[in-house]
Amino acid sequence: MSLLDIRGLHKSFGGIRATDDLTLAVAEGELHAVIGPNGAGKTTLVSQLSGLQYPDAGTITFAGRDITRLPAHRRSRLGMARSFQVTSLVMDMSVLDNVALAVQARQGSSFRFLRPARSIPALRDPARALLERVGLGARADMPTSALSHGEHRSLEIAIALAAEARLMLLDEPMAGLGTEEAAAMVELLRGIKGRQAILLIEHDMDAVFALADRISVLVYGHVIATGTPEEIRGNARVREAYLGEDAC
Ligand code: ATP
Repeated sequence: MSLLDIRGLHKSFGGIRATDDLTLAVAEGELHAVIGPNGAGKTTLVSQLSGLQYPDAGTITFAGRDITRLPAHRRSRLGMARSFQVTSLVMDMSVLDNVALAVQARQGSSFRFLRPARSIPALRDPARALLERVGLGARADMPTSALSHGEHRSLEIAIALAAEARLMLLDEPMAGLGTEEAAAMVELLRGIKGRQAILLIEHDMDAVFALADRISVLVYGHVIATGTPEEIRGNARVREAYLGEDAC
């Protein structure tokens, strides 16, 4: 059984079918990328997965449970973490404190205190370990506002990891990154993939083809192909959909 199972999803806005009989499955531990030309329906899919919008028809099953109409906050409790559009970094707190707060959120109310999260070893130590994992170990004590754009992205990954989610929903992690920062992000994601499943929505084809175990191609709200990077590269329908865009 798949960890995430999307079946026959439909979502229309007036006459526009943003999601059209969309079926897609993500296995435990898999890095599954969703690509598609502009307006293909990627944002609408992410909204339905995170519970910000509900589909007109179809089902979304996560870890064996129907979550199609479950409110957003309850999805995160089930083990789905979404990064980049929901996460907000607290800029005037230290880098370490941002992650310590995320660790605290996962651990629930076992720490009720007025002291800063960082002074509690049970929060601080895992937070430091997460910062090491994303390459920000040396930045732990800096104010978050002092980090570069790329480092903010890495910090958001650390915060998503702190949730210990079974599925991480990464919505365009490469957006706005320069060449070097994008390469660093690819390495970071390569390092964390495997433990939890990742659904990666991304325009950067180099990143997608470097990282994905499988790729699904969305066109007019419908998945026209799912396969390994090699299968997708050689797929005639995919090439046709991307004609004029120098994608795969
Ligand atoms: P991009 O890659 O350009 O961000 P996308 O793949 O994320 O595009 P969506 O933003 O999901 O695509 O849009 C899919 C289609 O649905 C588009 O035709 C868009 O205009 C339409 N659409 C999305 N949201 C709405 C809305 N709230 N009202 C009307 N139409 C919408």
